[in-house]
Amino acid sequence: MSDDTMIRIRRTFMGCEFELVLCGEDKDYLTNAADEAFEEVRRIEDDLSVFVPTSEISDVNFRADREPVIVQPRVFRLLQKAAELSADTDGAFDITAGALVRLWSSAEGVPPHDVLDAVVATTDMQYVRLNERDNSVEFAKPGVRIDLGAIGKGYAAAEVVQVLRDRCIESALVAAGTSTLYAVGCPPDADAWTVGVRNPVMNNERLTTVRIRDQAFSTSGSHERFVAIDGVRYSHIIDPRTGWPVTGLLLACALVDDPIESDALATAFFINGLEWTRAYCLARGDVGAIIVTQDQPGDKPVVHRIGRTIHQERE
Ligand code: ADP
Ligand code: MG
Repeated sequence: MSDDTMIRIRRTFMGCEFELVLCGEDKDYLTNAADEAFEEVRRIEDDLSVFVPTSEISDVNFRADREPVIVQPRVFRLLQKAAELSADTDGAFDITAGALVRLWSSAEGVPPHDVLDAVVATTDMQYVRLNERDNSVEFAKPGVRIDLGAIGKGYAAAEVVQVLRDRCIESALVAAGTSTLYAVGCPPDADAWTVGVRNPVMNNERLTTVRIRDQAFSTSGSHERFVAIDGVRYSHIIDPRTGWPVTGLLLACALVDDPIESDALATAFFINGLEWTRAYCLARGDVGAIIVTQDQPGDKPVVHRIGRTIHQERE
């Protein structure tokens, strides 16, 4: 195929900008594929978002502490995957952080200890019972609340990629906000897509780059999204085990084949920190990471590239 046409289309979903860069022969064909892909993202947002009161996840949060709630098979499979990822990350990634997310985002000050402790006591994936026989979800405790914020964009990226592959598009870059990227094949003039990692504290200048091909790359950080309480910034990423927002790193990025996994792992790397991430990538072999640290505010950020799958652009 001579890939001589390239289109770039942006649309807003899930509170961020999705962007598709599609390469192929025919502009109309690519535009139709983009429309179909975006339609899929809209459906996913309608199914999964806690901000959509009619979503399946909102329904689960509303009544799964009283009765089993049947969800679509694909939503059920995503919840199963989320449970596996919790176990795999020592509980750092945990969709039951939903109640904590809500508590901190209400911005009514730092929650009192007893309130925080009570919410931490509802935060654990073991309180979510997934029944494969009828695709139902039930909470083992009142107060449990799930939030797919740390995996939803990765899932949307995965489904977009499926739409593109079904349409035989062999060269594309899918961006779900700045959070998750997926590279389908390579651009017409190179053997991989080169993507930048921005410095979150220096006018977003480029810190480093990675080259990806048929892989996903996700970033988690607390500089774009946070709540300010009494002048202190609190991250939107919360350690489910302590109940506190996480501040240790500037950024954590994960590189792996599956965008659902990269999205969840970036969040988990951000929470678990540099040494845990190093050990995890060493044990897995198929996962790469970029961890950006800063010793003191104002210091130059330090970029740690971890894992054999991380390739840097030759400079
Ligand atoms: P972004 O959405 O900015 O790309 P993440 O993928 O790291 O960042 O997801 C952060 C979102 O995930 C938060 O806004 C919140 O809704 C939810 N969340 C926060 N802490 C956790 C956690 N420990 N595990 C799972 N989800 C979390
Ligand atoms: Mg994430």
